Amino acid sequence: MAQPEQSTPPNKNDNFFNKNPLITFAIFSIVVILLFKAFVGNENELTSKVNGQAAMRTQEVSYADLKKLIENKQVEKVAIGQTYIRAISGDGKIAYTTRIVRDDNTLIPLLDKQGIDYGGFSESNWFTDMFGWLFPFLIIIAIWMFFAGRMQKSMGGGILGMGSSKKLVNSEKPKTKFDDVAGAQEAKEEVREIVDFLKSPDRYVELGAKIPKGVLLVGSPGTGKTLLAKAVAGEAEVPFFSVSGSSFIEMFVGVGAARVRDLFEQAKKDAPSIIFIDEIDAIGKSRAAGGMMGGNDEREQTLNQLLAEMDGFGTDTPIIILAATNRPEILDPALLRPGRFDRQVLVDKPDFQGRIDILKVHIKGVKQDSDTDIEEIARLTAGLAGADLANIVNEAALLAGRKSQKTVRQTDLREAVERAIAGLSKKSRRIDEKEKRIVAYHECGHALLAETTKGAKKVSKVSIVPRGLAALGYTLNTPEENKYLMQRHELIAEIDVLLGGRAAEEVFIGEISTGAANDLERTTDILKAMVQMYGMSDVAGLMVLERQRSTFLGGGMTQAKEYSEKMAEGMDSYIKSTLNERYEEVKIRLEEYRDAIEKMVELLYAKENISGDQD
Ligand code: ADP
Ligand code: ZN
Repeated sequence: MAQPEQSTPPNKNDNFFNKNPLITFAIFSIVVILLFKAFVGNENELTSKVNGQAAMRTQEVSYADLKKLIENKQVEKVAIGQTYIRAISGDGKIAYTTRIVRDDNTLIPLLDKQGIDYGGFSESNWFTDMFGWLFPFLIIIAIWMFFAGRMQKSMGGGILGMGSSKKLVNSEKPKTKFDDVAGAQEAKEEVREIVDFLKSPDRYVELGAKIPKGVLLVGSPGTGKTLLAKAVAGEAEVPFFSVSGSSFIEMFVGVGAARVRDLFEQAKKDAPSIIFIDEIDAIGKSRAAGGMMGGNDEREQTLNQLLAEMDGFGTDTPIIILAATNRPEILDPALLRPGRFDRQVLVDKPDFQGRIDILKVHIKGVKQDSDTDIEEIARLTAGLAGADLANIVNEAALLAGRKSQKTVRQTDLREAVERAIAGLSKKSRRIDEKEKRIVAYHECGHALLAETTKGAKKVSKVSIVPRGLAALGYTLNTPEENKYLMQRHELIAEIDVLLGGRAAEEVFIGEISTGAANDLERTTDILKAMVQMYGMSDVAGLMVLERQRSTFLGGGMTQAKEYSEKMAEGMDSYIKSTLNERYEEVKIRLEEYRDAIEKMVELLYAKENISGDQD
């Protein structure tokens, strides 16, 4: 998400010229023609006559002599320049020249009296003459080199060093601190170690500790990924090199790769430092997910260069590469390998408290009325990201300004919220109240079942803040110590917990929604595995219908069905009836705990996040 206070991207011009070479060329040509006219077209008729006759002999005379020549009408044309005068003899054979005498006011009246043709001229010396001729050529040569340099570079390094991308990456030393990043506690914790490493790399290097080279910041647009990356640089007081993944994708193949090389070169020179790559998906898209035409050469080269650079420096070089994306799943797996972006930090959309904190950060710089109620605004903005909140505060200040108020009032903030929501894209949408209610009951259903079922995993966090694009809310279970074995009752417990969401919608809201699709998929998978692989059902008994697939020995291959149609039918009806049975069971449980759920929903509704230790 763009930041208003930031300076324009360093390579904006370059992009423009790159994308519009014809327009650029046209502009240059017009300039050349105009300049040419300006230099060459200013000679008037008289001076060209005076200056331009080839067969003329030049003779230097004194000023007094020249005046005498005029008095005697021995000259017929006089041209007066800034420093000297030229006069042509009556027969046109001799050009008399003399230096001007400044304070003489009698020359012009004399010329008038004698009726001699005279005029001024701008003196041309060899320099202006040459320049006038050479200048257009110089410009044309410059243009030629400009384009040639570009072509050269796109073919792998310009021989003339023209069009170098050196200045395309600019670094800054941000003053942003962790305090400027409100909410996002967990994300801040995770990057704190990086700050420490950048501050005193030697300590870690001596210990032989392996520091992550690349950290992927994952989160929806506007959730503060750039801000967090800057804060890391600000806290560590190191240079911050910022580029956008899409700026690497240029018209000419090879430019992006050259830029990556330059970027790392500079960052190494200034190490310890931070490289921040925004929208890394623009270059790091999985090759398999590339276009239909077999992918994009330029992107692939750029990506390869990036991988090579990341592998090229050791963990003892204190450079950390932070990259932002909101679609980690489409990234090329090569990027996520150990030694590259092997660490992911989730930068979530803020919950209720988080929104309050973010609003407070931004409203600090604004004069507010005593009646402003940040909590109300936070409540109205469920599902919005930090950038949206920053915009809302700014918009409110603009509204207040338009009304010539001295302070921002609650009504301005409310109006700004309405405006912001009207202008939102689908991606960053607010959860409306109805949805929020459904999601709250659904998630509480999961949570209650998890807490009351023997053998179920305990709940660590319940949230109705959307994460990613798919899930509307989520319930995080605490993974218990590494588990390889699951008993039958634990599998059933997992099914119950998964069904809890849908059942809660039915019991408390009276209508079911599409929100349970993923849960139902997982319950079906578990039951299928119980029948086919684990020998846990009456239908198949101990018979194995599906072999466990080894993931690395051709795991993806499809196997022939090794059981009868009758068995398949039996399995289907077993799965269906077991699901029904469990579902009825779960509904009864929910009825039993109606009060607890209502309470939990109320709490979740207000705070949007509940962690497991709260009852
Ligand atoms: P992203 O890089 O994730 O798209 P940005 O870091 O560019 O988002 O966020 C844009 C702006 O939104 C920031 O400059 C800041 O003003 C505001 N913002 C976002 N998240 C936060 C936050 N957690 N605390 C304070 N301000 C935030
Ligand atoms: Zn669910």
